[in-house]
Amino acid sequence: MPRLETLMTDDLRAFRRQAGDRHTAFKARGLKLDSTRGKPSAEQLDLSNALLDLPGTDGFKAQDGGDCRNYLGDVRGLPEARALFAPMLGAPADQMLVGGNSSLTLMHDLIVFALLHGVPDGTASWSAQAPVSFLCPVPGYDRHFSICEGFGIRLVPVPLTGHGPDMDVVERLVAGDPGIKGMWCVPKYSNPTAETYSDETVERLAAMRTAAPDFRLFWDNAYAVHHLTDRPHQLADILAACARHGHANRPFVFGSTSKVTFAGAGLSLFASSTANLDWARKHLSRQSIGPDKLNQLRHVRLLRDMAGIAALMERHRQILVPKFQRVQAVFAEHLDGAGVARWTEPEGGYFISLDVRPGSARRVVTLAQEAGVAMVAPGATFPYGKDPQDQNIRIAPTFPALPEVGLAAEGVALSVLVATSEAILA
Ligand code: PLP
Repeated sequence: MPRLETLMTDDLRAFRRQAGDRHTAFKARGLKLDSTRGKPSAEQLDLSNALLDLPGTDGFKAQDGGDCRNYLGDVRGLPEARALFAPMLGAPADQMLVGGNSSLTLMHDLIVFALLHGVPDGTASWSAQAPVSFLCPVPGYDRHFSICEGFGIRLVPVPLTGHGPDMDVVERLVAGDPGIKGMWCVPKYSNPTAETYSDETVERLAAMRTAAPDFRLFWDNAYAVHHLTDRPHQLADILAACARHGHANRPFVFGSTSKVTFAGAGLSLFASSTANLDWARKHLSRQSIGPDKLNQLRHVRLLRDMAGIAALMERHRQILVPKFQRVQAVFAEHLDGAGVARWTEPEGGYFISLDVRPGSARRVVTLAQEAGVAMVAPGATFPYGKDPQDQNIRIAPTFPALPEVGLAAEGVALSVLVATSEAILA
């Protein structure tokens, strides 16, 4: 594959025509492919089908004999569920709660509570201290951004470096602006870049001086156990690091079983300091007597312990690795050497992050969609849906079957070649 930038105009025109013909031929196949959201495939969901028969008609009693069909306990969830998931979040069981089926709901609700009531260490509610801003390492998770957008919270992008956010930028911003109340972090196998925050990054986030005394890290460890290699990344303990630096209330740690068991019917997890946990409990218990304990019980019975979780995640890995490898192989076959794109080789998580020539991502997505590959909206990985460089595209290879994953990658690669040759010729 020639480096497109180095081609003479006539050669580039010929290349553009040829790439266009291949794209047209691909389009003519009338395929309908989906590379939009990071969803588990049906094959992955099948791994947890035993949940559908649990806890069974006479297995609905909790460890302490409590009846999980009834109102039971409080918003913290079943003690045995907390004990099971505490190591997954790296938290003591008495510093966490297990909630309903969506960790995003918890993130959303804690932001609402903070806006309306303020958080421990705060002198007033966040909304009384408006304008409120959040730092957003980019590229990042669109749904994090849209929670903030919905409440008029300003989003301030911070570049990711490959081992977490650029900490020089983060430290400067949080030290200078008391309106910066929060920061989104997907610290392990980040969505979509798959990077894991280095020990140094975690340490600096824990230690940094913030102008806002009521600043919170929204530490969304959604991919804590989602390895794609046999060399799992290790993430430093944010709760311990913050406590060590006298900032025990700084981290709100989240997790989820959405990509462990059932994405639509799993469990959400939250861990934090005792003061934050009491604060969250107070507000959550006004909206619900408690989460679905039967679902917690069936998860405890299925997963049992961290070894059970690891064994299940290994089976996910067997299904996912060939899909990620297929995308890598197709991208390499079509794009290697052309100097038109860079893509990640994730060691965990759910995404491949594709960077194309600046100014081309929107066109690539349009061309891919014309070719039958449904893609996430261009710019989705940036606040307000606006990628200032128009270059990042999130590839989600988990949901389709393996042959479709390869075809979708081919459709994207051909679209990259057409869009880039067009852009250079323009
Ligand atoms: N957090 C991140 C970083 C995600 O990528 C996702 C789903 O893609 C979620 C949270 C959603 O979690 P839940 O299903 O628990 O709401």
